Amino acid sequence: AGRAAPRSTAGAGGADPPVLRAFVAGCPVDAGPSWDNVDPVDGSVRSRVQESGKDLVDRAVLAARAALDGPWGALSVAQRTGLMRKVADRIEARFEEFVLAESGDTGKPLAQARELDVARAVANFRAFADTVAAAGAPSYLTDLAGGKQALNYAVRKPLGVVAVIVPWNLPLLLLTWKVAPALACGNAVVVKPSEWTPTTATLLAEVLAEAGVPDGVYNVVHGFGPGSAGQFLTEHPGVDGVTFTGSSATGSAIMRTVAPRVRPVSFELGGKNAAVVFADADLELTLAGLTRSVFANTGQVCLCTERVYVERPVFDDVVAGLVKQAEALRLGRPDDPATTTGPLISTEHRERVLGYYRLAEEQGARVLVGGGVPALGDGLDGGSWISPTLWTGLTNADAPLRQEIFGPCAAIVPFDTEDEAVRLANDTDYGLASVVWTTNLSRGHRVAQRMRVGLSWVNTWFLRDLRSPFGGVGLSGIGREGGEHSLDFYTELTNVCVAL
Ligand code: NAD
Repeated sequence: AGRAAPRSTAGAGGADPPVLRAFVAGCPVDAGPSWDNVDPVDGSVRSRVQESGKDLVDRAVLAARAALDGPWGALSVAQRTGLMRKVADRIEARFEEFVLAESGDTGKPLAQARELDVARAVANFRAFADTVAAAGAPSYLTDLAGGKQALNYAVRKPLGVVAVIVPWNLPLLLLTWKVAPALACGNAVVVKPSEWTPTTATLLAEVLAEAGVPDGVYNVVHGFGPGSAGQFLTEHPGVDGVTFTGSSATGSAIMRTVAPRVRPVSFELGGKNAAVVFADADLELTLAGLTRSVFANTGQVCLCTERVYVERPVFDDVVAGLVKQAEALRLGRPDDPATTTGPLISTEHRERVLGYYRLAEEQGARVLVGGGVPALGDGLDGGSWISPTLWTGLTNADAPLRQEIFGPCAAIVPFDTEDEAVRLANDTDYGLASVVWTTNLSRGHRVAQRMRVGLSWVNTWFLRDLRSPFGGVGLSGIGREGGEHSLDFYTELTNVCVAL
């Protein structure tokens, strides 16, 4: 896993594609051999990305350490959080460039890149500037024998050099979700974006420099996982902690890599998320919500629903309604305002997802809609398109309900009682997110609290307050980020005890 299949540019014709380089100590740096960054919309080559070797990763970690020891380490909280607000302003000033870069790497509709990805990048810098500016630390007056007292108080210090490793589905959103708190807390970072989506992390380096963030505070290395920049970074002795978003298997590999040096990790990993629809749910609201939670970003959001449990009296209505919504999705070019759904990230990922489409049929699923690869014509057939797909006839024993697929698909399963719904939803090794659809207030709270997940929504999905805790249980991760919860990872506390 990890390394993208090399692709040939022979016969591509036209001008040479642009080259993406590493960014170390404030400058773009030539790295090693390069690979093709392919546009998933039509299979054309967008850019060539230079792979950072071990030496360059080492230079990036040393640059980050030097930044901590330099002027960055001496800034006040107000100065640092002021810089983070300037970064947000600079992203806004170059908003459309970020939109085009993000949509170009992923194939997602421009409208989504605008409304979700880039808008959230701006919000991330502002939210964590606010959180860090307002944060305090605990203190205790301790009573001692003989009427004496001691004062205990904690001081927060940056963790140090933080490795930030992120996936390809929401590249800038997930990157800034980590970089903003890390920098606001005074750390320096070396980031390794996904090999599939290297562009916005590189653009962010320019913006941070424009805002006045000192050299070496934000470094970018490009490459793959095992035997490449990802592994070199996580095994580097100069890295003080690793914050990672990606698959559970990679999280496990990173944990093994850092174990000998006992470094802290923060992991936001995969999901196999359930939605539970009760017979009393508002059907229109539910169908609109399910359509988003199953198909948003072509199903490539860690929070996406892949298991839909429906109370039997409304099962047929929900199935029919969801099929209708799936049929109404419009696959198309990112700049077409009518497009709702882009391609998958790559033809390699499509092969994985199609494997589950085949498996579902072998295990007896009824395919209600989709099930394969659409013929779109219009020059799109070199892209990694896939049809939105819904199944009935599967149970929790079947692999398509147990393993994360990460595509635009879901299995719909009936249930009869509240207890059964909770049992089915919690019957998974993952534990990231869930949604309960009901108009019964008490049931909404009750069932939401019984979900074994980090994020439990009622009558909505992916509604985020950036101060609230975000993360998962089980295979879905370790730790929580968001608001002050992020401070627990990105800072170390030193407790000072003074005898009075
Ligand atoms: P991935 O685990 O394959 O890759 C993620 C990143 O890790 C990439 O940058 C990759 O190069 C790097 N990597 C791979 N192997 C490595 C290794 N051994 N050492 C160091 N780095 C390594 O994940 P992906 O396919 O890019 O993303 C999809 C996955 O991410 C899904 O499982 C999805 O659920 C998960 N995800 C989780 C969240 C969350 O917040 N919980 C959010 C988005 C995506």
